Amino acid sequence: MRLLPIVLGLLLGLNLARAQGGATLLVNGKILTVDGQSSVREALIVRDGRIAATGRSTDLRKLAGPQARVIDLQGRTVIPGLIDSHLHAIRAALSFSTEVNWIGTRSIAEALDRIRQASHNMAPGAWLIVAGGWNVQQFRENRRPTQAELAAAAPDNPVYVQLGYGWAMLTPKALEKLHIASDTDLTSGGKLERDSEGKLTGGISGAQNAIIALFDRLPVPTPEQEVEGTRKFFRELNRLGVTGVVDPGGNNMTAESYQAVFQVWRQHELTVRVAYSLCGITPGKEFEELKDLAQMLPMGFGDGMLRFNGIGERITWAMNNNNQPTAAEREKYYEIVRWAAARGMAVTMHWPRNDSVGVLLDIFERVNKDVPIGNLRWSIAHLNDASPENLRRMKELGVGWTVQDAMYFQGEQFLKQEGEQAARRAPPVETAKEIGVAVGAGTDAHRVASYNPFTALQWFLDGKTVSGVAIRGPEETPTRAEALRLYTMGSAWFSHDEERRGSLEAGKLADLAVLSKDYLTAPVEQVGGIESLLTMVGGKIVFAAGPYAQFSEP
Ligand SMILES: [Zn+2]
Repeated sequence: MRLLPIVLGLLLGLNLARAQGGATLLVNGKILTVDGQSSVREALIVRDGRIAATGRSTDLRKLAGPQARVIDLQGRTVIPGLIDSHLHAIRAALSFSTEVNWIGTRSIAEALDRIRQASHNMAPGAWLIVAGGWNVQQFRENRRPTQAELAAAAPDNPVYVQLGYGWAMLTPKALEKLHIASDTDLTSGGKLERDSEGKLTGGISGAQNAIIALFDRLPVPTPEQEVEGTRKFFRELNRLGVTGVVDPGGNNMTAESYQAVFQVWRQHELTVRVAYSLCGITPGKEFEELKDLAQMLPMGFGDGMLRFNGIGERITWAMNNNNQPTAAEREKYYEIVRWAAARGMAVTMHWPRNDSVGVLLDIFERVNKDVPIGNLRWSIAHLNDASPENLRRMKELGVGWTVQDAMYFQGEQFLKQEGEQAARRAPPVETAKEIGVAVGAGTDAHRVASYNPFTALQWFLDGKTVSGVAIRGPEETPTRAEALRLYTMGSAWFSHDEERRGSLEAGKLADLAVLSKDYLTAPVEQVGGIESLLTMVGGKIVFAAGPYAQFSEP
């Protein structure tokens, strides 16, 4: 019996040691908690994947105990892990190990160099595909690349370069491989572009569906490449401080496209929390498909790393980018979203224009009379010219708004088409805040934008396009703290996660990033260049570099 206290003491001691040994202490920092008061703290303890405490370095050193792993922040800024509320991450990941990417290049020469490099690094004769994520304004030359330039950069490879969803350039080798010689070889209204002398340029233009159909003819990566791309892409997001995405499916995605992310999740190798929704896939068959796919997927099904988050951003093809849907098209759409509401699902809907979004809001209001949607976290994506009236209707319904940095690439075009007044308020995030609409931030990457959250944050703050033209006015410009809140707590709302993550408070998941520069005080033109030096997801270090490289976990 005299042994009992000793055994108990040993057990307690062991438990204490394990708890202390398992703790990580971050000290001497500038920790932007994004709590209700935007408090700044010096130190933070992580235990069992969660934040155990925040406070002063001296106090937390005592609390963490001598066994804790200590990370000295040396004055650096820490933010909650960033959450992109509208990133086609699952799709971008599939081809990340096999695509060439032009994100961040400043000239055609630099972009061509990436093609040249890829032609050396990839298998001989491999397809070199740039599937968007760039725009002409980012190039000093302020134009598109020519077929001759691309062919000269990689003479032995077929090269395909897509610009948004409206244009693609193919080298002769690429046209030959796809058997494209005349317009009749294209579908969905695609057209071969000709120069002033009537000669083919190698360019193909058309509406969105023509480019989607063209892209579908390119060879797809092997399943192994897709899994490798998924691992790599999520680490790339970690490098930029991203720890969560809300993924809205998207064009060219089928049920099969989800297998790579599922595999990485099964192997416990996901390093970004993914909340994903399902799109309608086949025109005319969307309702049957969604019912088939989702009836065994209850809303919220999954775990902390991968979770089912309802339907959208394309519910039916007929209502996709359609400003004047017919009564029958609206009725079909109503049936589907009413079904989703009855099952407690979130719905996210792609809608570019304010002048027609009333069509959508009418349907949402009609559903709401029958099945209240106020707690279901429905949302509208894009809508850069949202009017106060429509934002009020959204607020009334409890419908949130995901805002992307589309104007970073498209600002000048928008300015030309809509005028200075409209451009000054695109997108009206301050008006939305006043009205009380839930707003999340993001990018819409990677076909139409860069996935870099700091590019988007800089754009939130200075309203400048990629070529440096300032078009948004101060009345719709958030403060630095507010912009950070949109990218963390704001985005967490769209997957019912604001109680679990999005801020650095005791009890929440330890998702955070230690930044290379102080987000709050760095000159605004340097915000876009900020990177993470150390990123944690659930207390696990998923990225570490520079002074923290020694903390890398396998
Ligand atoms: Zn969209």
